[in-house]
Amino acid sequence: MWSVCGDGSMATTDDVTNGMTEPCEVCDTDTLHEITVQLITEGGSGENARYSREPYRVRECLRCGNRDSQRMNNA
Ligand SMILES: [Zn+2]
Repeated sequence: MWSVCGDGSMATTDDVTNGMTEPCEVCDTDTLHEITVQLITEGGSGENARYSREPYRVRECLRCGNRDSQRMNNA
């Protein structure tokens, strides 16, 4: 089966299912962004820190390649 998590960063197909038109601060205009959700491990300081994986909404501008991430859970 195909891996849903495949990155395929160099893909140039038109069927960008996660494509969203959003403002890009680098391009200074609305551009197509690829939206993905990644679990990013947040570690505290010290060995006893609890690690938690928080879902981040990562978006990448398909025009300039600028990326930013935003935590989805507002604690
Ligand atoms: Zn951009």
